[in-house]
Amino acid sequence: MFGKVLIANRGEIALRIHRACKEMGIATVAVHSTADADAMHVRLADESVCIGPAPARESYLNVPAILSAATVTNAEAIHPGYGFLSENASFAEIVAEHGFKFIGPSAKHIAMMGDKVTAKRVISEAGVPVVPGSDGPIDDLDKAARVAADIGYPVLVKAAGGGGGRGMKVARDETELRRAVPAARNEALVSFDNGEVYLERYLGRPRHIEVQILADEHGNVVHLFERDCSLQRNHQKILEEAPSPTLDDAQRERIGQICCDAVRKIGYASAGTLEFLYEDGEFFFIEMNTRIQVEHPVTEAICGLDVVRETIRIAAGERLSVRQQDLAINGHAIECRINAENPETFAPSPGRITEFHTPGGLGVRVDSALYSGYVVPPHYDSLVAKLIVHGATREECIMRLRRSLGEMVIGGIETTIPLHQRLIAEPDFASAAYDIHWLERLVAGSG
Ligand code: ADP
Repeated sequence: MFGKVLIANRGEIALRIHRACKEMGIATVAVHSTADADAMHVRLADESVCIGPAPARESYLNVPAILSAATVTNAEAIHPGYGFLSENASFAEIVAEHGFKFIGPSAKHIAMMGDKVTAKRVISEAGVPVVPGSDGPIDDLDKAARVAADIGYPVLVKAAGGGGGRGMKVARDETELRRAVPAARNEALVSFDNGEVYLERYLGRPRHIEVQILADEHGNVVHLFERDCSLQRNHQKILEEAPSPTLDDAQRERIGQICCDAVRKIGYASAGTLEFLYEDGEFFFIEMNTRIQVEHPVTEAICGLDVVRETIRIAAGERLSVRQQDLAINGHAIECRINAENPETFAPSPGRITEFHTPGGLGVRVDSALYSGYVVPPHYDSLVAKLIVHGATREECIMRLRRSLGEMVIGGIETTIPLHQRLIAEPDFASAAYDIHWLERLVAGSG
């Protein structure tokens, strides 16, 4: 096992990785920008290194600075967390070339899944159903029109290199399509430095259901059941739960098995998530995330397994600590993403935290790097806390969520706590009758 791990991230996920390392007896190195000198991940780590100024491209995305930090501190491995360099294949390669272990899958698998067109082809060849769409990237408008007519309108124009819910455009007919393709291509070029776009059937009322898998370097693969992440705004997840209230055990078992077989076939090793849209009893693969995800705690809650620890064990060449037959779903879990944003306009709300009180009690977990007096910098993602509740049933979870959201105090900035309070009070949420557009309708209805 590694003696020392460098955590190439910030915020709650840097803390999460630090905690897993400490419990494994591994020393930690934090890296930080000048804006994060007082951040909790820096305070808790055994060592810390400043890697540049506030803008992420000069610090958390600054590969030479991160490698120097690993060298001077004698770290053996680098955990990228999520975001930043976590899905950057060349980073994974450079890390290995410099003699460090990248805690994640191989550069080859990151690149394969980072290009969504390739990902869909590979995953489909491995036996997983995918959203109907173009076979490859779309380069000319006449071809786009032919493919779209085949798929049937409405269609979604998506960026092959896309992420974070950006670079998607719906087209309801050919006129819209001829406008959407160049617009999406330009947006993709600017955001992802890759102008390749492809087409998919636009599903009208699907749920977003994703399967968490773990695979080691010895060919062992397990799935940790699924998460339902249908509550989204601008294609970004707001609240996630596990298991999905809509699947029965047979459907769950079947999709889990399909995912394990595919992952085994492509030789993937690390934690990973296969994301699906689910409509009328059918699953359609959309993409695979090759990293730890923000919403991993709901899976940890129902499986009683530390997923981050597994990623570290896998990178160290160890075998998975569980077999599929050891895994069972225990109760239900829900996570609320609490962002430093106005709960109605979603305008960012950075600033000084004047008061911070986290809820507690049975079945309550808060993952956050906030503390009273801390200043939330304006330079990074607005996620400032995750509240995760676990209970015997979904109903118990909702009651616990209501109780804990009421206890939580984050003073000095605006947060999305009131949005969560509002959405969990909705009858449609109680009956789990929602799809990926439900939350946007709720928010629009109030505006
Ligand atoms: P990203 O990598 O940017 O997160 P995804 O492909 O994972 O993009 O899609 C993000 C979200 O966009 C999905 O959870 C879903 O809400 C919506 N979406 C993606 N593809 C489709 C589709 N074919 N039809 C309808 N909605 C879609």
